[in-house]
Amino acid sequence: MNGRQYSSCSYCSSGVEERHVRIEMWVGDSLVVFENVPAGVCDHCGEEYIRADVQEKMVGLTKTPSKKTLQVPVYQFSDPLTAAKAAAKAKKRDTQKAVDVAEREDNAQYASEEEISELLEMNFEEGDDTGL
Ligand SMILES: [Zn+2]
Repeated sequence: MNGRQYSSCSYCSSGVEERHVRIEMWVGDSLVVFENVPAGVCDHCGEEYIRADVQEKMVGLTKTPSKKTLQVPVYQFSDPLTAAKAAAKAKKRDTQKAVDVAEREDNAQYASEEEISELLEMNFEEGDDTGL
């Protein structure tokens, strides 16, 4: 490897030297990490330059199973307004849940003996009426 394989930095014109770097990139819906990638790194601004043959190798690597995987945390950024809306929605849902439970408890009440006998009497009278 000679030191002249990278031209000077196209941003700041400083010298670019080959180092081994870690590169993270999205391939479709997957986040892929490449370690130990030879890349030209600007000694002034840190811009990285990857040669075409290295890029081809990286593409080839994504078609093979990786030996190592990473589990990464995923955070949802939400602004205060969105958070307030979500809280209001959750509160409404909890209130509705409480109402549902209360209604269920009402329905679960059993009729008293008196109520049952009243119901039976009514049915008897109705049966009496239709029998006439
Ligand atoms: Zn630079």
